[in-house]
Amino acid sequence: MSSIKENIESFTAQLPEGVQLVAVSKFHPVEELAEAYEAGQRLFGENRAQELVAKAPQLPADIRWHFIGHLQKNKVRAIMPHVTVIESVDSVELLQLIEKEAARIDRTVEVLLQLHVAQEETKSGFSVDEVLQAADDGLLTCFPHVRVCGVMAMASLTDDMEQVAREFDLVRRTYLTLKDGCFDESEDFNHLSMGMSDDWQVAVKYGATLVRIGTAIFGPRKY
Ligand SMILES: *Cc1c(COP(=O)(O)O)cnc(C)c1O
Repeated sequence: MSSIKENIESFTAQLPEGVQLVAVSKFHPVEELAEAYEAGQRLFGENRAQELVAKAPQLPADIRWHFIGHLQKNKVRAIMPHVTVIESVDSVELLQLIEKEAARIDRTVEVLLQLHVAQEETKSGFSVDEVLQAADDGLLTCFPHVRVCGVMAMASLTDDMEQVAREFDLVRRTYLTLKDGCFDESEDFNHLSMGMSDDWQVAVKYGATLVRIGTAIFGPRKY
């Protein structure tokens, strides 16, 4: 098996320019994150608030933490001092709460709008219709402490790469509709976060600017 360092180097070499690697480190100990850090990795993704809050102070301060899991409203305050990007904003209410908590500690936070395009009902996110409606209603803009930087999504868990491609294509088209619509004056709305260990190549084809890779860097997770 190749080392974490070799995996980071291999992704860094393979990803086209303009595509950034988020190393998804959930369930992996800080020693393994430190190994990735030493290989030059600075973006890390965590999906549980407690885990992010526990790990962040043990690692260098120039790490940019992306929160990628379902965010409960009562956890927003806890992650706010640590997180750079909340990729998993799945409701207008959550967006409003993030604004409030960012304002409270006088910072600006970047977020992505999570879209639900996969077949599994357990995955969270706005439906395409919901996000376009919220955009039309003016509910996604005008947050002084939140920069909405784009869209995040997960594809269905399937070996059918045509299905995955259709889903990523829908995400990309929705992203472009938002970009040309309510975010047409935003300099920040430039990111499409999609693609994981098994489907990142498809995601890159459909315009991903952020890929979120866990297993292919750190190996299988021990839950
Ligand atoms: C766990 C996770 C990933 C990484 O998945 P791998 O298949 O291990 O690469 C990416 N995105 C989200 C939202 C995740 O929860």
